[in-house]
Amino acid sequence: MRAAYVGRFAPSPTGPLHSGSLVAALASWLDARAQSGCWLVRIEDVDTPRCVPGAAEHILRQLADCGLHADEPPLWQSRRGASYETALQQLTAQGRAYPCACSRKDIEAALAAMGHPHQRHAELVYPGTCRDGLQGKPARAWRFRVEPGLLAWRDRRLGAQHQDVEREVGDFILKRADGLWAYQLAVVVDDAAQGITHVVRGEDLADNTARQIQLQRALGFATPAYLHTPLVLGANGEKLSKQNGAQAVDTSDPMTVLSAAAAALGLAAHAGPRADALAAWVAQWRLLQSAR
Ligand code: GLU
Repeated sequence: MRAAYVGRFAPSPTGPLHSGSLVAALASWLDARAQSGCWLVRIEDVDTPRCVPGAAEHILRQLADCGLHADEPPLWQSRRGASYETALQQLTAQGRAYPCACSRKDIEAALAAMGHPHQRHAELVYPGTCRDGLQGKPARAWRFRVEPGLLAWRDRRLGAQHQDVEREVGDFILKRADGLWAYQLAVVVDDAAQGITHVVRGEDLADNTARQIQLQRALGFATPAYLHTPLVLGANGEKLSKQNGAQAVDTSDPMTVLSAAAAALGLAAHAGPRADALAAWVAQWRLLQSAR
């Protein structure tokens, strides 16, 4: 039987772990170990054009070098299409998913006609054009019909959070025009399938949570507890990401990179060896969390 706590680290294999993603990995591992829980790794390789060959194996090696061992073999999202399809069918049958014919240009034109200023690189709030049918146009993508109103949730670090998903995001994509499954659907279906009770991930992902809670509710899934970890900024003050060229962490010297990640989480320095340092950080994490 699984533990009462099931956590996970869910990297996208778009490159090796950098110092920011190692912080999220370490935090989720520490949180699971501090609660005598189960810790899983899920390779989020649905966005195949962004995946880099060999990156998943590289990430798994980096985690192993750092002593962050999962309790089960990794789950690969690229093998989970049938489950995503079942979820989409369920949502469609409930009237919560619908096909959409809009291109980005169509959405921009609809927003302009509604008097919304054109924001070049901003994410577009979908105006709901295809909610009531395709008007004879071919379907491109599938969208989730969101609930109106403010959705409130609590983050274990950030405290009370809320988002009006309809106004700030609109009906979001479940299956993309290129046929690929969207992150939101895949993450919600897999968190439920793996029985995840606690999500610990980087703060850059926090604003997906309200969307994911809406999807969980529509699919009849429980909502896990959420903790979003502080972001690690680069020397230029920018968020570290693979897109802006963050360096892979060199795990041939795991104590150096683990110590930096632990420091980013507010944990005290430890001279090692690695197993002793990890055990000390687990104990410290447990104290810090119980003091919250
Ligand atoms: N795969 C996502 C990423 O690497 C993380 C998903 C999650 O933790 O919910 O950004």
